[in-house]
Amino acid sequence: ARGIKKYFPIKKGFFMREVGQVKAVEEINLSVRRGETLGLVGESGCGKSTLGRTLIRLYEPTAGSIKFDGSDFLNLKGGELRQKRRDIQMIFQDPYASLDSRMTVGQIIEQPFKIHGLLGPAEREIRVKQLLELVGLKASHVNRYPHEFSGGQRQRISIARAVALNPKLIICDEPVSALDVSIQAQVLNLLKDLQERLNLTYIFISHDLSVIEHVCDRIAVMYLGKIVEMASRDELFKNPQHPYTRALMSSIPSIGMGKKKMSKILTGEIPSPINPPSGCTFHPRCAYKVAKCSEVVPEFEAIAPEHFKACHVDLDKDLERNLKETL
Ligand code: SF4
Ligand code: MG
Repeated sequence: ARGIKKYFPIKKGFFMREVGQVKAVEEINLSVRRGETLGLVGESGCGKSTLGRTLIRLYEPTAGSIKFDGSDFLNLKGGELRQKRRDIQMIFQDPYASLDSRMTVGQIIEQPFKIHGLLGPAEREIRVKQLLELVGLKASHVNRYPHEFSGGQRQRISIARAVALNPKLIICDEPVSALDVSIQAQVLNLLKDLQERLNLTYIFISHDLSVIEHVCDRIAVMYLGKIVEMASRDELFKNPQHPYTRALMSSIPSIGMGKKKMSKILTGEIPSPINPPSGCTFHPRCAYKVAKCSEVVPEFEAIAPEHFKACHVDLDKDLERNLKETL
């Protein structure tokens, strides 16, 4: 994806005049490699879901270009687009809302086959039962309704539906955020297992860095519609170089660290994406800022092979300041 922007118009009054724009996604460049899991992480409202949806044209981008599996994805139409759409699926946060409560599990999972006119009824039934078993449910559950399952089981049902047509790419948008912590690991492990067995590529969206660390190969940290840092998982966790990434990491709850300490590290609200701050949009909240931060937009640049950040300050060179802050 190159130069992806997604702005939503704000309209007001009787004539619905456009009075402004919500700049939800701003000039994003990224690539996802076959077979990997690319994580998008940031506080809620940073644009990660909007980016995920824009990348697969659930929202049409305001600007930019997307190449998917060799084709110019934004210019595909009709049958070609439908064909490519089969290769891309999405798993949502809320398994309660994303499953139709009036349909049986079998009807839910066979839907993609019906929509695309694939397989006859008998073949569909066989395939649906295989899919149930693939995600760790029983084939005999085929005639039950969503409310008869637990949250984790319901997310397994949406995963079965998502993989039904052998997609290449799945956007997982906070897939375990609505689940009990005890169930989260099971669902994450299922996703990992399916990735290997079915040769899937994931874009994995979460506000939760510990979940991101568990599943992602590479991670993009987002703030106010932009990627501020991107690196492999190991590099990012060992050597975070953007103040926002460091703030997010120090707010991962750990033993002996209460809520109070967490809120001290990342103060203030996310500014409005309608009128984002000048210069580096993180400057109102940044503990490392220097004079030019409020004036000059930092470039997104490589600081090591495969490690990029958008920040004027070299945090490692800033030892004295770091030390003062720790004391
Ligand atoms: Fe902080 Fe300045 Fe870096 Fe922005 S550019 S993150 S304000 S130090
Ligand atoms: Mg979201």
